[in-house]
Amino acid sequence: MVDLDSLVRKNILELTPYSSARDEFSGKEGIFLDANESPFGNLNRYPDPYQLRLKKEISKLKNVYSNQIFLGNGSDEAIDLLFRVFCTPSKDSIIVFTPTYGMYQVAAAINDIHVIEERLDDQFQINLDSLVRYLDNTSVKLIFICSPNNPSGNLIEEQKVVDILERFNGIVVIDEAYIDFSDSKSFLSLFDKYLNLVVLQTFSKAWGMAGVRLGMLFANERVIRYLNKVKPPYNISSINQSVILERIKEKEKVKNEIDLLKQERNRLIKQMMQLPFVVKVYPSNANFILINVQDADSLYSYLITKKIVVRNRDKIIKNHIRITVGNAFENDQLLAVMKEFK
Ligand SMILES: *Cc1c(COP(=O)(O)O)cnc(C)c1O
Repeated sequence: MVDLDSLVRKNILELTPYSSARDEFSGKEGIFLDANESPFGNLNRYPDPYQLRLKKEISKLKNVYSNQIFLGNGSDEAIDLLFRVFCTPSKDSIIVFTPTYGMYQVAAAINDIHVIEERLDDQFQINLDSLVRYLDNTSVKLIFICSPNNPSGNLIEEQKVVDILERFNGIVVIDEAYIDFSDSKSFLSLFDKYLNLVVLQTFSKAWGMAGVRLGMLFANERVIRYLNKVKPPYNISSINQSVILERIKEKEKVKNEIDLLKQERNRLIKQMMQLPFVVKVYPSNANFILINVQDADSLYSYLITKKIVVRNRDKIIKNHIRITVGNAFENDQLLAVMKEFK
């Protein structure tokens, strides 16, 4: 059994958090002269520091309790806070499985945390035999698993994740930024079983709200309490909270958008496989596809001259390019231009 408190940095365990005016009195009615706000305008009040109305809607969507939700200014804020709660600078380590999302390494570097990089195998799956030597190491605090993985687009095998959850005494963070595009269920379904499971999701991808910056972190309520202690008091603006509340009302429309993108993804995959310079198109559980081409740099530069911007991943996987699925028009343009590439 994981001992959560022993994983938390000592200064955070002992931290007395900032107590905001809205922490000390949270009623709705009254004359508010406690927070040095202006009495004029309609955005004059500080936002709810714990975003309770929004969390209530998210809790219904995800079938978790409100006190198991943390909301960040993008998932990136949640990732940074995990480091600040659990990792002591220049002492602790984390594990990531490469190639993967670059923010884990950047957040680690900012927090002066050592990163152990385990390479995914040629199916982009975790090699457990190579991982086991780290599982008892008490200075390893976090393991990041991105599923569906960015940039490979595949899901990580559930049984491997379960093995890690059971054998590792630190926190296992599963980044599910792309889960709404996948055929698999979320790891949230294992939520009640593992105290050390943290799941990240976001409004930036399937919900089409990248401009708003709203990331969701789901965890045991004790983990949430530590994150709340450390976060800036008013990290989600009232504008952002209300825009997301409105978007959640459109969830049927969002579902249709996701279905459409999945159809477009499958069409792109089929078409790309026909192109002579494409060595491999990987299956995808996300809203992007990874392709292996003969010469990624020259394809990338060619597409730029046609004003089409894709993500050249050559530096992390030789001759691989990641392409986001656009709308039908954009995808038609892309395919037409690619057919002309020599
Ligand atoms: C896009 C993405 C996110 C989302 O980050 P936000 O800060 O919520 O926009 C998180 N994780 C992965 C793997 C991503 O690709």
